[in-house]
Amino acid sequence: MALKITFLGTGTSQGVPVIGSNHPVCLSDDSKDKRLRVSILVSWDDCNFVIDCGPDFRQQMLTNKVAALEAILFTHEHSDHTAGIDDIRPFFFKQGDIPIYAHKKVVKALKKRFSYIFDEKNRYPGAPAVEINYVKRGVDFTLGGKTIIPVQALHNRLKVFGYRIDDFTYLTDVKSISDKEVEKIMGTKILVVNALRKEPHHSHFNLEEALAFVARIKPEKAYFTHISHVMGFHAEVEKGLPENVHLAYDNLTVEI
Ligand SMILES: [Zn+2]
Ligand SMILES: [Zn+2]
Repeated sequence: MALKITFLGTGTSQGVPVIGSNHPVCLSDDSKDKRLRVSILVSWDDCNFVIDCGPDFRQQMLTNKVAALEAILFTHEHSDHTAGIDDIRPFFFKQGDIPIYAHKKVVKALKKRFSYIFDEKNRYPGAPAVEINYVKRGVDFTLGGKTIIPVQALHNRLKVFGYRIDDFTYLTDVKSISDKEVEKIMGTKILVVNALRKEPHHSHFNLEEALAFVARIKPEKAYFTHISHVMGFHAEVEKGLPENVHLAYDNLTVEI
């Protein structure tokens, strides 16, 4: 069962271009400089799930012609990773309650912001509904016959979860990670990790930190995501990277 990864979005929280920006990267004609909010689609056989469900979710599902969704896995509660949850409605109408996998603090935040989705007693006609599955550090779970290993990291002081599936690991919004969690991803062949920009940032790896992390994990290939316009033009940054490391771009697919 080969895994297929589709990068649905590779941009940081505002996306690229940024609204109203005259930055040269925001004005670029290169499609690789256009980045929706970060998310990936993971597929094998007829199983499809997404990691995160940001404000560009609807557009991402349409562009990639996704017709069914097994589940949504959440990394953390920030809006750029969760704000699209209302747009699961077409999947909900076809499939019923959509399984979500999230840490309890993420579920708590979603319940506050999208109370109508979680109100089991008073379902509003037309509102979507979800089936909650709690993600816990150290507790693996199964999706479509594959084991999913949650990997905990820190986004400044906020806990975030990445996921390992077979020899693929996806981590975003990471600033630091413990040695114990790093052990869980050793042996990964394809690693996706966030690299915001060249300048340091309080809650994200910058390019240098992301490269150091790749050097530590030693995957066959690494892709950077959650990229800001200030990182620079895709084509130029790409030229400066080691041979097995790439900037991801929207709609890139990778098979494992
Ligand atoms: Zn983010
Ligand atoms: Zn975040």
